[in-house]
Amino acid sequence: MKVLIAGGGVGGLVLAMMLHQRGIGCTVFEAAPEVKALGVGINTLPHGIAELDQLGLLPEMDRIAIRTRELRYLNHLGQTIWSDPRGTWAGHAMPQFSVHRGRLHGMLWDNARARLPEGTLRPGHRLAGFTQNARGVTATFENGATAKGDVLIGADGIHSALRKLLHPDDGGIRWQGVQMWRGALDFPQFETGDVMLIAGDETAKLVFYPIAPGETPGTRLTNWVIYARAGDPAHPPPRREDWSRVGKLPEVMKYAKRLKLPQLDVQAVIRASGDFYEYPMCDRDPLPWWTQGRVTLLGDAAHPMYPVGSNGASQAFLDARLLADLLASEKPAAALKAYEADRLPKTAAVVASNRQGGPERVVDLVAQRAPRGFKDLAKVASHEELAAIAGGYAAMAGFAIKRAAPPEGEVLVEVKETPAHGRVAWLTISREAKLNTLTPELMQRFIAAAEALGKDKALRAVVVTGAGEKSFVGGADINVMAGLKDGKQAKAFIKLVHGCCHAVRKLPVPVLGRLGGYTLGAGLELAAACDLRISAETAKFGMPEVRVGIPSVVEAALLPGLIGWGRTRRLLLLAETLDAATMESWGFLERVVPAAGLDAAIDEWLALIVAAGPEAIRNQKALIRTWEDLPLKEAVQAGIPAFAASWKTEEPTRMLGSFAHRPKRG
Ligand SMILES: Cc1cc2nc3c(=O)[nH]c(=O)nc-3n(C[C@H](O)[C@H](O)[C@H](O)COP(=O)(O)OP(=O)(O)OC[C@H]3O[C@@H](n4cnc5c(N)ncnc54)[C@H](O)[C@@H]3O)c2cc1C
Repeated sequence: MKVLIAGGGVGGLVLAMMLHQRGIGCTVFEAAPEVKALGVGINTLPHGIAELDQLGLLPEMDRIAIRTRELRYLNHLGQTIWSDPRGTWAGHAMPQFSVHRGRLHGMLWDNARARLPEGTLRPGHRLAGFTQNARGVTATFENGATAKGDVLIGADGIHSALRKLLHPDDGGIRWQGVQMWRGALDFPQFETGDVMLIAGDETAKLVFYPIAPGETPGTRLTNWVIYARAGDPAHPPPRREDWSRVGKLPEVMKYAKRLKLPQLDVQAVIRASGDFYEYPMCDRDPLPWWTQGRVTLLGDAAHPMYPVGSNGASQAFLDARLLADLLASEKPAAALKAYEADRLPKTAAVVASNRQGGPERVVDLVAQRAPRGFKDLAKVASHEELAAIAGGYAAMAGFAIKRAAPPEGEVLVEVKETPAHGRVAWLTISREAKLNTLTPELMQRFIAAAEALGKDKALRAVVVTGAGEKSFVGGADINVMAGLKDGKQAKAFIKLVHGCCHAVRKLPVPVLGRLGGYTLGAGLELAAACDLRISAETAKFGMPEVRVGIPSVVEAALLPGLIGWGRTRRLLLLAETLDAATMESWGFLERVVPAAGLDAAIDEWLALIVAAGPEAIRNQKALIRTWEDLPLKEAVQAGIPAFAASWKTEEPTRMLGSFAHRPKRG
């Protein structure tokens, strides 16, 4: 197989290296006569970096780029609206990198040249046309050259010639009048030197992030962008030759002065930059199709998107990976069709979301509701609302943290240690095809896993969840129960249900129940055994046992303490299915959030737990458990030795001391 790639940008070069890795020959035709370090900052997300890692390019990225630790959204007065740990700090297997676009391109070009046979990279070849028949495709170039291959891939960017050939009536570049001014400069390191800021409102926004080590140890090559609705959306976008024009200081300052961040003098940053550039924020409408026989599109040629949400390059890498895999396993035309069927709808969703502002909508939302800033953010926008915007974008763009799906019938134990959340274990009950219903084997595995975690002295918290989003735990497996022959077998079975709940209650650290869907019967008992329950607003709850001829038992006995006797009777005797809002109002759920914000809500509470004293949290959990079993008078008394016992460690002295000596406000 021979693949012709028009466009030696980041997408085309990654595709070429991936094809080579799979033993497929290719030639890359690049219009530019030589590679220059053009552009400024660009971000590459963990899902895109995973593809570069497949090519062994992670060390190269570390050489030229910055691992982004945090993305912080601020209003135009510098007040924090939302903050996300990024990359490995957020628990991804791969980092997020902020990098100079020209250096990324240069690195990919050099690696492709070193790896691929000589003559594979052909600068100075601008695609002008193509013909195809049943045997292959012929590309023609403006310089008069021609090339024959099995397929032709247009990776020729937002102004793609191949796209124009395939879709002569395409609506063209779309512009909503937003102009960007972009520059980079050697600048004193901001905070830890790996924080990205997005600040502003609907009038003007700043994007600010370091993209490479600086000229001196205390500096970073730092990228900035100011963007604002400076043009009339009814007018056509600036002509192509006016893209990347050198910007004029008074024009950008008109917008920069709106940004009054106490932590950063935005105008000083711009003044200290040398030349900076204008660039219209443009995209194109998603196409109805990309593929015609042996020809298709990739990267910006296929789905140019607004540069919000840091997704342009990453989506091109995902395109390249799938296309290379399919070309290695399918016939040319079938491979291109399958590639389009998978990638077109996914990327169209990202294009549409970016047009609405992508995750940066958290800034617009707060600016609309509190244009002069806020005293209490929670009164302006709820955490769930903000999490749904930020978390929802990650899920849609394919970079939400995916917990590895364990094989059916297993309990996945993942222990993660991040600066934001400390050492936390996730226990995932995996029987997604059967609503995570519990079999004896699954319960034995769960008990063993929870008991093992109980011995981990550094552990700070445990999250219990079910695989997939349809169900937390849909109950004990009805088929297994139907097969129980006598009271002896029934006893052994129910002891395992109790064993699971007991193992959770015995864990010395707080256990958060992450209830994403059906939480029924034994599943509801397991949830009741958790210390805190956070549920998706779509989750459903019930104790349906009496409907199948058995009573609700074991840890169902926790319910009166949680929701009261009357509601327990209603739940157990009427066997209704209830929604999350009802269960929250009854006091069973501590928090209900949109499904897309579930992980963010869990993360937020894990962060609060981890911010507290580790010993204090363990002592507190033990004391609460003791209180549950004692009459009030004895429960109160039990606190006295527990309080005294905390002084066995240095934690109270240390933490009380630093609180007493904290810097005073004002
Ligand atoms: C000069 C430049 C600067 C950029 N700067 C930034 C930036 O600062 N920040 C950011 O987020 N994104 C930037 N981008 C966009 C970003 O690189 C892309 O969104 C993303 O990397 C997708 O990559 P791609 O390979 O699909 O497209 P691109 O990276 O645009 O690559 C397309 C390649 O095709 C070549 N080409 C064009 N027409 C033809 C043709 N007819 N025949 C053959 N080759 C052709 C181009 O010269 C280019 O090398 C820039 C793109 C370019 C071209």
